[in-house]
Amino acid sequence: AATQGGVGLARIDEIRAQEAEAFRAARPKSQAALGNGLAGFFGGVPMHWMQDWPTPFPILVEKAKGATITDVDGNRLADFCLGDTGSMFGHSPDPVARAIRRQSRRGLTYMLPSPDALGLGELLAQRFDLPHWQIATTASDANRFALRVARAITGREKILVFNGCYHGAVDETFVRLLDGKPANKAGLAGEFRDLTQNTRIVEFNDLAALEAELAHGDVACVITEPVLTNCCMVLPQPGFLEGVRSLTRAAGTLLLIDETHTISTGPGGYTRKHGLEPDLFVLGKPVAGGVPASVWGMSEEVATRFAAYNRAKEPGYSGIGTTLSANPLQFAAMRATLEEVMTEENYAHMEKLAARLADGLEAAIARHSLPWHVARVGARVEFICASGPLKNGSEAMAAHAPELEAAIHVALVNRCVLIAPFHNMMLISPATKKHHVDRLVAAFSDIAGRLAA
Ligand code: PMP
Repeated sequence: AATQGGVGLARIDEIRAQEAEAFRAARPKSQAALGNGLAGFFGGVPMHWMQDWPTPFPILVEKAKGATITDVDGNRLADFCLGDTGSMFGHSPDPVARAIRRQSRRGLTYMLPSPDALGLGELLAQRFDLPHWQIATTASDANRFALRVARAITGREKILVFNGCYHGAVDETFVRLLDGKPANKAGLAGEFRDLTQNTRIVEFNDLAALEAELAHGDVACVITEPVLTNCCMVLPQPGFLEGVRSLTRAAGTLLLIDETHTISTGPGGYTRKHGLEPDLFVLGKPVAGGVPASVWGMSEEVATRFAAYNRAKEPGYSGIGTTLSANPLQFAAMRATLEEVMTEENYAHMEKLAARLADGLEAAIARHSLPWHVARVGARVEFICASGPLKNGSEAMAAHAPELEAAIHVALVNRCVLIAPFHNMMLISPATKKHHVDRLVAAFSDIAGRLAA
């Protein structure tokens, strides 16, 4: 019989149906409001991803504070999704809420600096060990702008990505290896270009393949997360990231580290903890505590070359920047986040509870003899319904168990725990408590036991 993650599909379907029913029963108001979608929005949702949650209809949120989300029916969920990282430091952290309140009386966007911007660049430089910074509004944009700089100063047209990567809505990263061959990622809307023309792609943890692709001499930049977090979780094997750094240097190729998710590692990200020495660095989502903002940084050498490039280039629009970027609300929220929220103390708390969560999940998987595993990067934990560790994107794609994961997700919601919708990711915030973690572990163990029965 067909199975996913070692569980029969018939059993998965049965549990999914029961859990969907329980979800509805606990949400009469939400169902009345949302059962037919939100009026006036295409597809019944203000952003189409909201349709992709595995619950019968989206959770209609009344409010969120710290690590708790409350829906309009009064259900209180321990939130481990945390806006899939945008609220990694908890919902409305007090210092950020205060900064927003203060700035709300002083104007929200001006295309000019405010006093909060004084010192912010130096704060970023100290925190992330790169001297030159720019502010954007989303991590997608920050990646796009940094890649533009890489191409400008190297005069090379291609970039290189690792199979299974995700860096936001950055067109040229949407390439995959299919049976070992580069191809446009399936499912893209309106993509009429062959993206493989400008993007090389190899598997993560494969230095020989990387070296061979870089040998063409036409790659401006390798863009990667230090840990692939968007196709389950793929950790770098010992020596891999050092190898990426030395091979890119030898090939005259820049290295862009996207820390948007791996900032879960510590206040300076994975980069600082492991001394990665990128040429370009991107951090989005949680950097302003949930206010839309991102930052991208350049090494001294990149900045010097880019300044020279700008002096020599025809004046005009560079294709870098958007109107709302670097606004005073972002400065205020980002300063509060960096100074008062992204602290060693908060990270120590996050690390401790994440380890407790990973241990608890592993014990539950072992107890029910399921062929699953757990991976973790700092405060970011993932259970994967396949054996591990995963070596690369192809293995990660093969590990996906969509129906099984959907059943677990809804069952967790029914036990008052929310995890990320598109993968089995759980984040620990400074506001997360031990009892939240223990609730998640107990709920997971309960549903794992029912699936394994
Ligand atoms: N980089 C990484 C590593 C991401 O995971 C994401 C989003 N999941 C992005 C960039 C894009 O962030 P945004 O959607 O805020 O543009």
